[in-house]
Amino acid sequence: MPRDAFAIAERLTSDLAARPQLLLIDGQAVPARSGETFATINPATGEEIAQVARGGVEDVAHAVAAARRAFDNPSWRRMSAVERSNLLLKLADLIERDAEELAVLECLDNGKPASLTRWVEVEGAIRTFRYFAGWPTKFGGETLPVSPRSGAHILNYTTREPVGVAALIVPWNYPLSMAAWKVAPALAAGCTVILKPAEQTPLTALRLGELALEAGIPAGVLNVVTGFGDAGAALVDHPDVDKVAFTGSTEVGKLIARASTVNLKKVTLELGGKSPQIVLPDADLEAAAVSIASGIFFNQGQTCTAGSRLYAHASIHDRLLQLVADEAAKLRIGNGLDPQTTFGPLVSDEQWERVNGYVEIGRAEGAELVIGGKRPEGQERGFFFEPTILAGATGSMRVVREEIFGPVLSSLSWTDPDDLVRQANDSDFGLSAGIWTNDVKSAHRLAGAVRAGTVWVNCFNMVDNATPFGGFKQSGWGREHSRSAMENYSEIKSVWINLS
Ligand code: NDP
Repeated sequence: MPRDAFAIAERLTSDLAARPQLLLIDGQAVPARSGETFATINPATGEEIAQVARGGVEDVAHAVAAARRAFDNPSWRRMSAVERSNLLLKLADLIERDAEELAVLECLDNGKPASLTRWVEVEGAIRTFRYFAGWPTKFGGETLPVSPRSGAHILNYTTREPVGVAALIVPWNYPLSMAAWKVAPALAAGCTVILKPAEQTPLTALRLGELALEAGIPAGVLNVVTGFGDAGAALVDHPDVDKVAFTGSTEVGKLIARASTVNLKKVTLELGGKSPQIVLPDADLEAAAVSIASGIFFNQGQTCTAGSRLYAHASIHDRLLQLVADEAAKLRIGNGLDPQTTFGPLVSDEQWERVNGYVEIGRAEGAELVIGGKRPEGQERGFFFEPTILAGATGSMRVVREEIFGPVLSSLSWTDPDDLVRQANDSDFGLSAGIWTNDVKSAHRLAGAVRAGTVWVNCFNMVDNATPFGGFKQSGWGREHSRSAMENYSEIKSVWINLS
């Protein structure tokens, strides 16, 4: 937790209110060509924090041209692996230097508690840049034992080359860490980048761009275009963008997949989820309840991996639900600048309406409201919504099938172990799953049977740069983190040399 978050926030908000926040293109802070700006709002108060340049098609073209020039510039293209590593390490150091300020800035813009932004966003970004700083010196090709029919003596080897200009379109739920998940491997692989933050949370992306310049990353290598969905769409449409990496809704992911065929961009998509939490009768219920509560209520449920479908065995269902409700009651709802706060507001009025709408849909469909379902008392300003549990849900309900992206747990009970797997897999999504059991055979059997990119057994929401992250089914294409992320931003070249 930043030491004096309120004081830092006061200083930041007066600086931010003083002038519009500009785009970062080719190393320069520039207004949008249209001159337009938009307001970014503090979700805890509903008040404007700053005006931000609204980048449009022309600004995107400007940024892409800058990124292309930077990509073609030998000072970036031919930079040694060690130098590239050092730049990423330096950027991580600068994020660490400004950690408290960044944590408060993210809290103001996104609403999540500053104690969480310090850990998840800022520490997460530092770790990600340091992790990917290790790759340039290790990421290369192979020599391969080809067998030409002619009997020629051939040396065949592969190289890894950067894909080119990458458009990185990120959401509002983890603004700085999602940016880092994409920017760090893209730069490590030698790409140049246009980062497009979500309209709700543009501020830390702009700071990241400034810090990259301070770290010595050449102008044009990391450009930041703030704006609305049309700016994202312009990036995807642009014929000189080689790669798109996107995190956000499945709906927009599908639009991107279609639009990117303009020049067959390489596309990776990290999309929605509706993760099951599967609890067997032998599980440690107290431990499971703590993790299930945090799995759905962490970040106010605005997490793609949120464990939003609970499948508890009928023999322990009611007791488990009570324990989860007890955990929810321990959450301290409030302004994220307060060190006591563990549960902040939703990101926007629109998101509040969406979450509230889903609770109404769930009740109309026949689910029973156990806790929550409304604005908390004493929180008349801002976009606060109580941690909510809907019991008696069934597999056909919209609250079980659709991503709510809010603090709403839908609970179902089961008795037939064979049908359990069918139910857990009865979803368009396949991002992650949690399994709670002390039986090793059941753990492995279920881990193999659930169709999800990540499975957590007796834990939940553990993420690490070392291990791949991404989804089956409509949860996405490709994997972030690990060597997989380096592969996303590179092309393989196979070189044949006739030595005969
Ligand atoms: P979006 O998918 O619309 O936004 C994600 C990013 O894509 C933002 O930067 C957005 O810009 C940009 N974008 C929007 N339209 C386009 C487009 N046509 N082409 C390219 N980029 C585009 O998510 P929302 O913010 O609208 O949230 C809606 C729902 O999406 C949530 O309720 C949640 O269910 C889901 N979601 C899932 C996330 C996940 O991690 N899986 C993350 C965020 C949302 P802009 O912000 O300016 O519109």
